[in-house]
Amino acid sequence: MNKLAWLAGAALVAVLLYLAAALVGLRGQDAAGGEGPDEVVYVCREAKTLVSAPPQPTPAVNPATGRRTLVRALYCRDCDGWRAVPPTEAYGGNPLSHACPRHRQPMSPTGPLTAPVR
Ligand SMILES: [Zn+2]
Repeated sequence: MNKLAWLAGAALVAVLLYLAAALVGLRGQDAAGGEGPDEVVYVCREAKTLVSAPPQPTPAVNPATGRRTLVRALYCRDCDGWRAVPPTEAYGGNPLSHACPRHRQPMSPTGPLTAPVR
């Protein structure tokens, strides 16, 4: 009888641990937000306007003109503006590690869309 009670207790602890692990796992997935950003910022090389759109190969189609003029844009805090980033294949690096040509510092993929394009 004692052994049975011990087994039942051990089983209960195992179930509780499993549930706790499952909960932590679900929360971890939520925090990560899936496979990356839903939308990234592009700048039109013709009109110098900012467009927020799902991630896609560049140059991407500007929905306003129908032409392939969109390249990734990164925000420099010191410039207080956006800078166009060349397509990845042009220099073979992570576009998000592209540094501001003026301030020599990494730029951010997020920033105020009201800021100007430099
Ligand atoms: Zn800068």
